[in-house]
Amino acid sequence: MTVHVVTLFPGFFRGPLDEGILGRAVTEGRVRVDLVDLRPFGEGRHRVTDDYPFGGGAGMVMKPGPVVDAIEHVRRADADTRVVLLTPQGRPFCQEVAREFAGAGSLTLVCGRYEGFDERIRAFCDDEVSVGDYVLMGGEAAAWVVIEATARLIPGVLGDAASPEDESLSAGLLEYPQYTRPREFRGLRVPDVLLSGHHGEIAAWRRRQAVIRTARRRPDLLERADLSGEERELARRVLRGETVDEG
Ligand code: SAM
Repeated sequence: MTVHVVTLFPGFFRGPLDEGILGRAVTEGRVRVDLVDLRPFGEGRHRVTDDYPFGGGAGMVMKPGPVVDAIEHVRRADADTRVVLLTPQGRPFCQEVAREFAGAGSLTLVCGRYEGFDERIRAFCDDEVSVGDYVLMGGEAAAWVVIEATARLIPGVLGDAASPEDESLSAGLLEYPQYTRPREFRGLRVPDVLLSGHHGEIAAWRRRQAVIRTARRRPDLLERADLSGEERELARRVLRGETVDEG
């Protein structure tokens, strides 16, 4: 997949792009990250990209001309790219949206700075996402979140192809508790079932734990989770504060 990033700070991405799993995915050509420096699209001798808000108010606003020129520059080279504005006003970015983006083939992430974008820029984008209900100083950290969450869903990027299916949120539930060696750590023991070698019982325990954990920590996720009648009843009991069999 290709990710174009329109940004005033391309240097933000350079270190992380050389590191870890994503660095390998880039080297192997599974993910291509094209950093599009917004500055050369700026206006006048000083390549200005921001200006005072009409109507007054604090801070500067990103001018439409440079941002739209940069978007059109990308679209000329990659007509099918999906242009996504990063903004706290966008639809919430979540695992489902990451999956949607991973299937898109090409994304263009547009990073804002200052007090955000001139409203007319929105007309030139296909989508808007927010990485959370807080305000960052710029879109670069948000773009990085989108790149990481999306790229790891592309086949071959993670070594173990099964792991994205298992983990938190992929089935609408949080992941079950994980343990590794030693079997006992400072008096805390690994649940016996995980040492039993009985795959059916382990899978059932993990599923039950995922339901219990989600009900306790993120009950908001339950409504859309794919649960059996029995699992829904288990979740309801946890929500009512009843003691349930933890297995
Ligand atoms: N005044 C803007 C508003 O209230 O919507 C916020 C501007 S913010 C200081 C500057 C830039 O950071 C935004 O244009 C956006 O690109 C990025 N940004 C900040 N918070 C974000 C979030 N939660 N999700 C995605 N992008 C965000």
